[in-house]
Amino acid sequence: MKQLVILSGKGGTGKTTVTAALAHLASQSHRVVLADADVDAANLGLVLSPVTEATSDFMGGKVAEIDPTACIACGRCAEVCRFGAVRPGEVYAVDSLDCEGCAACFYECPVQAITMVPQHAGQWFIASTRYGPLYHAHLFAGQENSGKLVTLVKQMARLRALEESADLLLVDGPPGIGCPVIAALSGADLVLIVTEPTVSGVHDLVRILGLAAHFKTRAVVLLNKADLSPVHAEAVVAACAAREALVVGHLPYDPEVTASMVRGEPVTTGDGPLNAALRQVWAVLVEQLAL
Ligand code: SF4
Ligand code: SF4
Repeated sequence: MKQLVILSGKGGTGKTTVTAALAHLASQSHRVVLADADVDAANLGLVLSPVTEATSDFMGGKVAEIDPTACIACGRCAEVCRFGAVRPGEVYAVDSLDCEGCAACFYECPVQAITMVPQHAGQWFIASTRYGPLYHAHLFAGQENSGKLVTLVKQMARLRALEESADLLLVDGPPGIGCPVIAALSGADLVLIVTEPTVSGVHDLVRILGLAAHFKTRAVVLLNKADLSPVHAEAVVAACAAREALVVGHLPYDPEVTASMVRGEPVTTGDGPLNAALRQVWAVLVEQLAL
């Protein structure tokens, strides 16, 4: 089983459009399991019409809670809290929005009045789609640990892929270069970086190529909307050449992307130049992955 992770240095490059199209194309010849690792803004399901089969809670970090019946108001917890999260009073209390979960107060309380309580931070889902099972998640607003949730989604999807002897685990990763992205590219056989011919596209491509190189993960590049700016398209190609990253395709701008989104289907189910270009890209990826 091979693992292909789709990433982009920035949002809005067409990463999820490409992932949905590859899910469609891959499922025509291979057994595929899908994972949407963009847990802050999962949207692969918008194009794949998933049917949810199971929902589970995700417990994130812990916050301190004070038992008012046990607190003797000694004030030690407020003294050691570096985040100003403890509210003094006849009995003390913790403001959960300010608590960073460091547990300093927990260890300092002389009467064990403080408990570290896990927070319900999100949910993760198993769904079926016409192209294979989809694992995805939803992190609640303001919650941390998105890297942990990405790892959970990928682990569960990988186990399913192994159980079903799937050929490919296809992962739609989050944008950027932060902790969730590192969690997403972990274990990848190949990373496909989708970029666009803009100043920020080039800038963020260089950053994510550097990240992949740092973690010794093989990365190839797909230039989306390549015809919108020949100057910046050349800059993308030059940046890839300087880092020995293969450019697996130049996709044209195609209004069919919008039309397919309105239909709620991958762009490769319709007509247009992008369909043919993506089929060529998929053929290159099959070679690169040795599928
Ligand atoms: S766990 Fe840390 S941040 Fe939270 S109230 Fe205790 S000392 Fe403050
Ligand atoms: S350290 Fe414990 S007993 Fe003292 S104020 Fe805080 S919760 Fe109450």
